[in-house]
Amino acid sequence: MVEIIHERSKCIGCGACAAICPSNWEMANDGKSKCKNTHPKEESCNKQAEEACPVNCIHLKK
Ligand code: SF4
Repeated sequence: MVEIIHERSKCIGCGACAAICPSNWEMANDGKSKCKNTHPKEESCNKQAEEACPVNCIHLKK
């Protein structure tokens, strides 16, 4: 089990996470991204989303 912490207040809405990992990230109506499942079974593409985020507001914890 992985825990995803999204510091949404820091999100600048660049869309990288949703582009890289659309299975678990989507863009919300307020222009910021939204994590669909904060406790996925596997890292999957969330690790790449974490690494791609330009403001480091996605954190994966195992
Ligand atoms: S990559 Fe980071 S800044 Fe860009 S939309 Fe996703 S959470 Fe927000």
